[in-house]
Amino acid sequence: MKLRRLLTAGLIISVLLGVTACQGRSPLSFLRPTETPLPPTATATALPTATETATPTITPTLAPTATSTPSRVVIPAGSVTAPILLYHHVSTNNDTQDSRYNIPPEKFEEQIKWLYDNHYQTINVSDLANLIYNGGEIPQRPVVITFDDGNIDVFNNAYPILKKYGFVATFYVVQIYVNGKDMVSTDQLKELYKNGWEIGSHSKTHAHLPGVSEDLLPDEIRLSKLNLEEKLGVPINSFAYPFGEINDNIIRLTSSYGYKSAVGLGNELAHGMNSIFYLSRIEVQNDFSLDQFIRLLPWSGPLP
Ligand SMILES: [Zn+2]
Repeated sequence: MKLRRLLTAGLIISVLLGVTACQGRSPLSFLRPTETPLPPTATATALPTATETATPTITPTLAPTATSTPSRVVIPAGSVTAPILLYHHVSTNNDTQDSRYNIPPEKFEEQIKWLYDNHYQTINVSDLANLIYNGGEIPQRPVVITFDDGNIDVFNNAYPILKKYGFVATFYVVQIYVNGKDMVSTDQLKELYKNGWEIGSHSKTHAHLPGVSEDLLPDEIRLSKLNLEEKLGVPINSFAYPFGEINDNIIRLTSSYGYKSAVGLGNELAHGMNSIFYLSRIEVQNDFSLDQFIRLLPWSGPLP
């Protein structure tokens, strides 16, 4: 199938760029492209503001300084342009402070405030996937914020900051980490879901899936979904590959186990059917300056 070949070609590149998520350093990290992001899609049709009925599910508890006018557009099925950001820790904890995977809360808020001030609005991964499948209404400047693994500091530190700006996120949790030491609990995940967050599966044990035997792969991919759905009572529609590592069989299984999408690593801003089971996520790293963060993003300044 042509689609399959396209997907595979994209994946090989993504995997080359992306095998480093979560732990370790990659000798391939220098391969990360640094070119400027794509311009916004020209296919969006502006909706008259008078017809807007969407109300944010979360009212910011503190009024942020800038006034943001929510602006939404309608797009056809097929393609969505939106940065998908990947975070792991938002913490002041000494153990993780200097880790590539940690963003201190002040720095995280600076990034979120910049997004807010520049008229970004969050959507979750399954919203983005639904738009690829069906088209529909989308913020004029959508951004997807994701967290991997299930660290408690995401609930303690990132959640209140996002809530303050009316933002939500998608949290990919490892099944056996939930309720563990320094990890998010079942009740906390339920609270996030009630407040507009999406919960996804990040496998059962955070294994390197290409090295897992054929008979254990269903546990990692399928049973993690079923277990989380049972524990949380919420749908789990998206999967995050541990370390961004995949092969053809892993993608085939993921797409056949009831997930609607899956996420990996990479710098693409445009997403479509050819990447719906390896959506490209940009990892925000500890040492990024605000300018570097801004350069990851496709839009800035006032809305056109
Ligand atoms: Zn991970």
